[in-house]
Amino acid sequence: MSKNKINPYLQLLEIPPGHLNTMGYVDESEVNGPGSRAVVWLQGCQRECEQCFNPDSWSFEINQLISVDRLSEKILSNPNNTGVTFSGGEPFWQAPALTEVAKKVKVAGLNVMSFTGFTLERLQSEYAPASSQELIAQLDILIDGAFVPALAVNDPNSLVSSSNQKVHVFNSKLEDKLDWASDQIEIHILKDGNRIITGFRGSLD
Ligand code: SF4
Repeated sequence: MSKNKINPYLQLLEIPPGHLNTMGYVDESEVNGPGSRAVVWLQGCQRECEQCFNPDSWSFEINQLISVDRLSEKILSNPNNTGVTFSGGEPFWQAPALTEVAKKVKVAGLNVMSFTGFTLERLQSEYAPASSQELIAQLDILIDGAFVPALAVNDPNSLVSSSNQKVHVFNSKLEDKLDWASDQIEIHILKDGNRIITGFRGSLD
């Protein structure tokens, strides 16, 4: 059993209360959901999918810690962000803190979307990570299901990267805004010189 297969709850206990363990962050993305969005990549995923786009996100060890308040302020400090997307890694392992972030940005008028490797049915079951249903209650859009290479969709107009994944729109106001293409690429040059490449099937490099 790889270290990453250890019960995620044990390693999640190392995250201080009110904080998130993140892998990356970018403002004003147009390829991770409707409109212009902040994107938060969470650290930690136990699935180890074949051809995962972000294998550096698998480890549950502490990467970049940020408090709920600081992350919320960061998202809201950019007036061009009309929403936020949680990606991964697996966002739902950190559902309690993400629920608090979602509440704070929604009060300010932003919409909230999340990717997950779990199915919605699993997240609504007794086997879901803690606070999954509280996070779902805050979401405007959920895209569920892990990437399955054998079911890959190579369509420039597709919202998902493999056909097992489903787009759940909980906010009817966004139903006519499902127009981002999963095959486009953005390159963000950060102030510290680092680069984030995102958008190609939701990848972070
Ligand atoms: S669920 Fe997503 S982040 Fe996790 S291993 Fe699979 S493709 Fe990678």
